[in-house]
Amino acid sequence: MNRNRRGFFAKILQQKHNDRNIAMLPYAENIEIFEQNCIKCETKDCVSMCDENIIFLDKNGIPLIDLNKSGCTFCDKCLLSCNKDFLDSNLKSIFADIVLDTNSCLSHNQTMCFSCKDICTANAIKFNGLFNPTIEESICTKCGFCIKVCPVASIEIRSKW
Ligand code: SF4
Ligand code: SF4
Ligand code: SF4
Repeated sequence: MNRNRRGFFAKILQQKHNDRNIAMLPYAENIEIFEQNCIKCETKDCVSMCDENIIFLDKNGIPLIDLNKSGCTFCDKCLLSCNKDFLDSNLKSIFADIVLDTNSCLSHNQTMCFSCKDICTANAIKFNGLFNPTIEESICTKCGFCIKVCPVASIEIRSKW
């Protein structure tokens, strides 16, 4: 890829998607891999294959995921529909950070709530007794399922573009 072009894609994404919980497709190791390989193809098969209906095309035709709607099950369907081979099925994760806001979290404010823990199949959310959850970054896949179930929107995925 042309040197001047490198970083262009990432810049567009950064400018256009400061929205909460918008991220890259799963299985992409980093933004550079995605930038250099996704050809924004005609078929858009990755979008239609997703049973969770979380993949959308932004106005530049770039496929992204919206974790406000649901989470990623890592079902591999988007990966298998892609006719390029840059997505790595061994990477069952989304290239992003996850943040739990302790100011708004009910459990950090003496109200019992286990909604995020209950839905987390990776068991990445650890409670200190009955309260004060934290997310274990090394276990969390950034699947996003805990976002929608939180009654006070305390969990956020921040993509690393
Ligand atoms: S792995 Fe499956 S659930 Fe996740 S974004 Fe791809 S098609 Fe959707
Ligand atoms: S994003 Fe992380 S903490 Fe939330 S449900 Fe998925 S694995 Fe668990
Ligand atoms: S679901 Fe939200 S409010 Fe409840 S414990 Fe988890 S982060 Fe806190």
